[in-house]
Amino acid sequence: MKGVGLIALVAAAMASACSDLVSPSSARLTVVSRDEQDCCAVPLTDDQKQQVQNAITGLQLSSIAICSNAGFFLQDRLNSGEIQYDWATSAYGYMNTNGDPNVYLGQIAFDPGELRNTLAHEESHFMGYEDSGPPETAYDVGDECAW
Ligand SMILES: [Zn+2]
Repeated sequence: MKGVGLIALVAAAMASACSDLVSPSSARLTVVSRDEQDCCAVPLTDDQKQQVQNAITGLQLSSIAICSNAGFFLQDRLNSGEIQYDWATSAYGYMNTNGDPNVYLGQIAFDPGELRNTLAHEESHFMGYEDSGPPETAYDVGDECAW
């Protein structure tokens, strides 16, 4: 049951419900998964690290508690090298549920306006939020923290 393909199919079937990882006016397919293979993860480049830092700072400054909390946890991850870039994934980002502390970001996470959403989404999984089920989902958290 793992892999982007299944998630993408589900997302396609639920396009309206899963549009929270895109800007409100667009209808791009949401592709965020958990438990993807992390074969292709590498440390962030200096430029990526700066972008991630800016996004994390924004989260920390949020007036919404879960967003600022996520920001502080993400700061620790960034400082510990636990936010990495996966050059092969088609997802915005993913994390693993096997105790791996890393958050993995895909290339599209660095598209304008996506980084805060993706980081908050993935961090929320460490807090126990799921991709589906009753609100509030990880997508809700990402959407809430996106701006
Ligand atoms: Zn997710």
